[in-house]
Amino acid sequence: MADDGGERLRAELVAELGEGRVSWSEDDLSARAHDTWPLSLIRAEQGRLPTRAACVVRPQSTEEVQAALRVADRLRVPVSPFGAGSGVCGGFLPEAGAVVVDMGAMNALVEVDEVSLQARVQAGMMGHHFEDALNQRGYSMGHFPQSIELSTVGGWVSTRAAGQFSSRYGSIEDMLLGLEVVLADGRLVSIKPSPRRSAGPDLRHVFLGSEGTLGIVTELTVKTFPVPETRRMVAFGFDDFDEGLEATRKIVRAGWRPPVLRLYDGHEAGRHFGEWIAEDAAALLIVTEGPAAMADAELAACREICTAQGGSDAGAAPVEHWFVERNNVPSLRDLVARGLVVDTIEVTADWTHISDLYRNVVESVGEVKSLLIVSGHSSHSYAQGTNIYFTFVANPDDPADSEDVYLECWRRAMDATVRSGGSISHHHGVGRLRTPWMRAEHGVGIDVLRSIKQALDPNGILNPGALLPE
Ligand SMILES: Cc1cc2nc3c(=O)[nH]c(=O)nc-3n(C[C@H](O)[C@H](O)[C@H](O)COP(=O)(O)OP(=O)(O)OC[C@H]3O[C@@H](n4cnc5c(N)ncnc54)[C@H](O)[C@@H]3O)c2cc1C
Repeated sequence: MADDGGERLRAELVAELGEGRVSWSEDDLSARAHDTWPLSLIRAEQGRLPTRAACVVRPQSTEEVQAALRVADRLRVPVSPFGAGSGVCGGFLPEAGAVVVDMGAMNALVEVDEVSLQARVQAGMMGHHFEDALNQRGYSMGHFPQSIELSTVGGWVSTRAAGQFSSRYGSIEDMLLGLEVVLADGRLVSIKPSPRRSAGPDLRHVFLGSEGTLGIVTELTVKTFPVPETRRMVAFGFDDFDEGLEATRKIVRAGWRPPVLRLYDGHEAGRHFGEWIAEDAAALLIVTEGPAAMADAELAACREICTAQGGSDAGAAPVEHWFVERNNVPSLRDLVARGLVVDTIEVTADWTHISDLYRNVVESVGEVKSLLIVSGHSSHSYAQGTNIYFTFVANPDDPADSEDVYLECWRRAMDATVRSGGSISHHHGVGRLRTPWMRAEHGVGIDVLRSIKQALDPNGILNPGALLPE
């Protein structure tokens, strides 16, 4: 890379893309300096996160993304793809002298195919804009991450996102049919949508969850679903979390797929649903939907299983409350500004291991000095297992200790997860946060991932530092 403070890079990008597409204003650089990783927020709050990128490019077409990558590859400049910056693991953290490729201007809904129930969309479209546009035509994507108003569809693919209705509609990998990705040298890979195929390995999975390290996603084709005719809901209280896990397991084991199945431990149930659920009891929220006969049958079956498991019916009110509050979370930035150390950690395991995993993580993180809260809920269930989404809050006496406390909570949670037979991430991805545990997760598979990276990005320009351990 030329050591000219990014001058040549900017000049070549302007020559290729035009002035309006490239910015190096302080405002643009500082708005694109990091994502929502709490450690970046802590460092920024403490003035320890300098703005380092050389410029921000806002392409308006796949061809412009290709042109930008050709320049970066020729000059060996690191590239940081940016969706909307809602990632929480440091996937977006530009290297010194990097070019940020901000996908926000590629935000069009390209095509809705009502016969084949699929839609083509540019990668930079915000999640809620996409869902609203589908709803206007009577369809839904069925993908509702809590960050739907904060994230792009291309970000979902890049992080392997999961939404609140995943138990029925699946997560992003189940919905993704086709994909367009620009490689580091500017070549375009087009994976055509198909209901299924047997034509060698599935290339969609090379790019799903690759967090901008293997290419830039410019367009995707996803499944759509007719907006459901009816929705039913009920909540149950359980004396302890394990009983709730058992009810959840039996529901999915029997083949029922209520889109929402969320089990909160006693701490979280008290925090969110204390008005309806007995003190210290766990709370299971259930939503069924679809044709009325199906939604009714599914609800009746879930009720029967929960009652047989010792659950007490708390009616629909807790679920109605969840629907209103589900995307209202306290701003991480505000909490960090108050000196709190806070984060969420989502992991997963099969049914055989999940209960021990929950206990081991709570116990180990609970030993951190200055910890105020560690709690969890399960929100994505499968016939084979489920996830646990932990929340921790600590309040160190000295703000200078925030980073150490933060990393200690994570180290304990990750080590306990690995020890308990779980997987290190269910849906937030790896970023720069989980790289130390990637070897434990994948073993020799890490060498395979490195070989893929080397083949697709031989100059190592794409998001260096993310996903793969040093
Ligand atoms: C309050 C809150 C709630 C959340 N809830 C959920 C949830 O329910 N489910 C869930 O899965 N996640 C959730 N997240 C995490 C986050 O929203 C997801 O990871 C989301 O997919 C990131 O999308 P983004 O567009 O903001 O991507 P960014 O944060 O901009 O980028 C994420 C990563 O993908 C890369 N990238 C982005 N766009 C592209 C592209 N077009 N091509 C190649 N690489 C790209 C970036 O370089 C980075 O490595 C939540 C986050 C917050 C702050």
